[in-house]
Amino acid sequence: MIHTKAYAAPGADQPLGPFELDRREPGPRDILIEIAYCGVCHSDIHQVKDEWGGSLFPMVPGHEIVGRVARVGAEVKGFKPGDLAGVGCMVDSCRVCPSCARNLEQFCQKGAAFTYNGTEMDRVTRTYGGYSARVVVDEAFALHISPRLDLAGAAPLLCAGITTYSPLRHWNTRPGDKVGVVGLGGLGHMAVKLAAAMGAEVTMLSTSPAKEADARRLGAAGFGLTSDEATFKRLAGRFDLIIDTISAAHDYNKYLGMVRLEGAMVLLGVPPAPIPVAAGSLIFGRKTLSGSLIGGIKETQEMLDFCAEHNVVSDIELIPFADINKAYERMLRGDVRYRFVLDTATL
Ligand SMILES: [Zn+2]
Ligand SMILES: [Zn+2]
Repeated sequence: MIHTKAYAAPGADQPLGPFELDRREPGPRDILIEIAYCGVCHSDIHQVKDEWGGSLFPMVPGHEIVGRVARVGAEVKGFKPGDLAGVGCMVDSCRVCPSCARNLEQFCQKGAAFTYNGTEMDRVTRTYGGYSARVVVDEAFALHISPRLDLAGAAPLLCAGITTYSPLRHWNTRPGDKVGVVGLGGLGHMAVKLAAAMGAEVTMLSTSPAKEADARRLGAAGFGLTSDEATFKRLAGRFDLIIDTISAAHDYNKYLGMVRLEGAMVLLGVPPAPIPVAAGSLIFGRKTLSGSLIGGIKETQEMLDFCAEHNVVSDIELIPFADINKAYERMLRGDVRYRFVLDTATL
């Protein structure tokens, strides 16, 4: 067994504290990663607070993991000791269902093995995430990270990065496309950077005028203040694609009004209650309202390579493990620009 220091939540909505656990000995296709950094995702808070139900405790959150390979199994082909490596939201899937066959492991019909608050595919062995010093993962679910990228800033690419990259690619974002991004948080700031790197003309849509300067610094060419009704008129029918990252209740119909003929709006945030959509919001303009969930392993690697090529990383605030509970409170107030990243050296 590989003994590992970690940080865990002992029960629902209890503060996180020091914890220890054992990882499996690396099997023939496994790699052992010494974790350097782990990003703090808003879904970590949802799961620690058991807001989605069924949380497993003690819980070691964290699915934005980057580090260096320390050891590889005998049959490992793609990694060698010393390589940089990352682990995102999944550590395994069935690998044979129609979704897995299309490299869409996030939609595995048997249910993927999520990196924490879940089990391996045996449905028994608990998974523990990246708020820890080491992780053992099958190389098929490990990602290569370019040494050209700032390693701490690259950590959030493993969830926030792929979550925003995947819909931009799925809707075939091209240079000159007009992309609206709703909400400037962890996801929104990555959506702005990635869409701008793809050559799109990005407009930040936010209720907060204070976000405009930052949005423009991150690559937005325009800004729409959504607390002002005039904005919805000014931008009516404008966007090829709207990426909506907001998880608070808001009126989708108003935003669909800013989508062009046959354009699309993609939901990444999960508001607590259903939101009504008028059929007319879609019918008048043959518009698409869709959702998107992280991305498959192949696309995650493509995203990391794209980020290396375009020098895209997350804007982060590096924090010691001792500050994690304070960081959660600040995230709940929206007080982070734009992602906390845990420094494993402080564990
Ligand atoms: Zn996440
Ligand atoms: Zn599958």
